[in-house]
Amino acid sequence: MAKIIDGKKISQEIKAELKEKVAVLKAAGKTGALAVIQVGEDPASSVYVRNKKNACAYIGIESLAYELPESTTEAELLKLIEELNQKEEVKGILVQLPLPGHICEDKVIQAISPKKDVDGFHPQSVGAMTIGEKGFLSCTPAGIIQLLKRSDVDMEGKHCVVIGRSNIVGKPMALLMLRENATVTIAHSRTKNLPELCKQADILIVAIGKPRFIGAEYVKEGAVVIDVGIHRNENNKLCGDVKFDEVESIASAITPVPGGVGPMTIAMLMSNCVQSIEED
Ligand code: NAP
Repeated sequence: MAKIIDGKKISQEIKAELKEKVAVLKAAGKTGALAVIQVGEDPASSVYVRNKKNACAYIGIESLAYELPESTTEAELLKLIEELNQKEEVKGILVQLPLPGHICEDKVIQAISPKKDVDGFHPQSVGAMTIGEKGFLSCTPAGIIQLLKRSDVDMEGKHCVVIGRSNIVGKPMALLMLRENATVTIAHSRTKNLPELCKQADILIVAIGKPRFIGAEYVKEGAVVIDVGIHRNENNKLCGDVKFDEVESIASAITPVPGGVGPMTIAMLMSNCVQSIEED
């Protein structure tokens, strides 16, 4: 049976460490707020936004909520971001994605000052990560690195297969694994012989976005399996991209859904906020 990598516990440890850090920074007169912008009322986005505000409250930083109507224009949103870029007390700006179809997400991401880009999506942040310079790391992949490190999974020299090449998960994930000296293969929808390729992985990171896609035939005995996917099944229960029940008996360690990668994303967002307050 695989060891269960407990993202809930590890994310709580990280948030507790951040809480202590925030107290020390406050005592030294260093404070700051995270601005959280939501456009429209997508229920899933509302849950994420609420969790982010709660995490801010827990670690002791202020969150400023901007709940804008669905009808908000791109120009109005860009104007708000520009105002927040100028506000001294705002150290981080987060725009909850996805945005309504009439607003260009790339334009919005690029409007956020890289100094306040706590999601790590700005091209400058991505570029800095690519060449190993200082900057904000994309939260979900950075959270996965923390999960692996804090579970004593050795990455150096290991073959890591990342399934998925999105800008927010797959690509930054592959780059961060490379930074940890893993040998990295990126697979995507055009990859041939996916099961055979995945079966070569010592560490398999799955970010396909398809419920219960990866079964036993994709996993090598003793591999570490990280499931990034989040879906609701027909019974309204959360599940991942991996058939947990099948893979658990083959892998040496595995993340569950829920309680694996999900909680780490918010913990790393908080970590980026604290970094921003610290460095200002
Ligand atoms: P995405 O943008 O839809 O990307 C999915 C990737 O999977 C694409 O690169 C796609 O390849 C590849 N893919 C799709 N079908 C495939 C197949 N049959 N074989 C091989 N590759 C295939 O999704 P995403 O934003 O990266 O997110 C992935 C999953 O993670 C989703 O379930 C999402 O909800 C979840 N997620 C979770 C968190 C968290 O905090 N836990 C954060 C972000 C995302 P192509 O590029 O060729 O199309």
